[in-house]
This record gives sequence, C-alpha cells and structure tokens, in this order.
Amino acid sequence: MPHSAHPLKKDFAIGTESLLREESSAEETAPNGSTDIGGESKKRKRKKASKANSVSKPRRKLSVSKPARDPRDEAAVSPLERVMETRSPSPVIDFDGLSRPSLGTRERREESTEQAACRLEKMTGAVRTILECIGEDPDREGLIKTPERYAKALLGFTQGYQQNVKDIVNDAIFHEDHNELVIVKDIEVFSLCEHHMVPFTGKMHIGYIPDRNVIGISKLPRIADMFSQRLQIQERLTKDVAHAIMEILKPQGVAVVMESSHLCMVMRGVSKTTASTITSCVLGCIEKREKTRNEFFSLVGLNRQ
Ligand SMILES: [Zn+2]
Repeated sequence: MPHSAHPLKKDFAIGTESLLREESSAEETAPNGSTDIGGESKKRKRKKASKANSVSKPRRKLSVSKPARDPRDEAAVSPLERVMETRSPSPVIDFDGLSRPSLGTRERREESTEQAACRLEKMTGAVRTILECIGEDPDREGLIKTPERYAKALLGFTQGYQQNVKDIVNDAIFHEDHNELVIVKDIEVFSLCEHHMVPFTGKMHIGYIPDRNVIGISKLPRIADMFSQRLQIQERLTKDVAHAIMEILKPQGVAVVMESSHLCMVMRGVSKTTASTITSCVLGCIEKREKTRNEFFSLVGLNRQ
C-alpha cells in the first residue's frame, strides 16, 4: 500500500533493502555468540555500502534489457535524484530527524485518528487469525480481548518507528571543553528480532569523546530506546545508535557495545540459555586510536586482549 502511494520512495527503498541484505548476510557468516568488533570487517562493509549507493541505479537496470532511448526522453534531473537531495548523508537519520530506512516511520507519525483506528483494527484481525492458526479458540473468555491487547502492545513495542531523534535530543547539547571519554554503561535494552519477532534483551554501553559539545546524559538511553523499539537485528541496532550520536552531536568519536540474549535462540531448539551475543560499533577517533578503544572496552568491562 505505501509502495504504490510513493513510487519514488519505493525505488529508494529497494536500494536500501539490498544494501541491508548485503550487510546482514556478511554478518551472518559470523557464528552466533561471536564478537564482531569494529576494524576490518566494518571498513569492508562501508566500502560495500558506498558502492551499493553509487551504483544501485544502473545496477538494477543491468538486469533488464535496455530499450534504445532518445536522449530527449531523459529528464534533466531524475525524480529519484530530487528525493535524494532532501536526504541527509547519515545512514540512519533523515534530514528531518526521522530515522531510516523505514517507509512506515513517516506514515505512522503522520496518521490521523481514523487511520490509527484502521491500523489497530487490521492488526487485531491479524492476531485473531494467528490465534486460530495455532489451534486456539479466539472467542473463549480468556482470549476474547487478546487480539486487540496484543496489537496495542506491539504498537508500543515498536513505537520507535514514530519517534524523531531531533525531538528526543531537544537541543540538550551543551558547550563544554571536555576531551575525555564519557560513558553511560548498562543501559537496559529490549528489542524484537526482525527474523522471528521475538524479544532480545540485554545491555548497551555507549561512550563518546566530545568535540566542544556534550549531550544531556539521559538522552543516550533514550536514543537506544528509540532504535530498539523497532524490529531489529542486534548488529544494526548497535550501528544505528552509534551513527545517530555521531550525526546529532558530531563528537570526536563514538563507541557502542551491546551484549544480549536472544529468545529466538533460547526458546527454540537452539537452547543455549547462557549464550550472549556481543556486537560493537566504533566510529571516529575511537576507531582510529587503539589506546582509546581499549580504555572504553575495559571501562565497560569488556577487556579485549
Ligand atoms: Zn530471531
């Protein structure tokens, strides 16, 4: 439905999706429970990402046989390029503070009361269908209100889709000549894995080295909340938070580490109840300076030697 309404956005989304697919398939090669810390693999991904960005248009056309075209048929500036101009260079935050890539972000945020009611009704019907499919009786007393309750809960679990990083930060950026690591550790994170829509929960540690400005310390957990209240994979969640801080604060460097336990592993056959997955994303000077990186990891209790 949103696709047909926004053909341009659809075009863009295809590029982004394929980019994400590339990234996640690269990450899937790492065994579960392993550590994917910064460094080489990240550079490789970035190279891939910029390559995908710059060639995504012609590359899509290659698969289709190109009709002979008169140059006069070509628009001077393609509509897609016009859309791209309004986008910020950040991989996670759009020019207006809404995060991407997510077509639904703007739609959910801007919907009317009627549209919201419509969405809830549609979701309630879908949950009722799920109950029937698992062999339950959705009309029995205990379940009668469950579809609507679950639909509302799910909208709550995913409210990060309608939040805006700029609103969250709300100008809480202050001038301060502090040039050392600032760390907020043990931020509790609850998210839903996008492969099973089952929770993964854990702790995130965020650190940064200011460049003349610091951010209100309570904003860091709120940024983590915003990105975790979406369908995620842990690797992307870690990156989203790091890039958002980099973009909004422009510090010298950012480091984000997350340790979590995935219920889709714990509850299904892969019953590794004690396995935890650790992901990290380091940017700027923290990526470049090994000493700073080690200081961050030892301060958050992950000394990587
Ligand atoms: Zn999963």
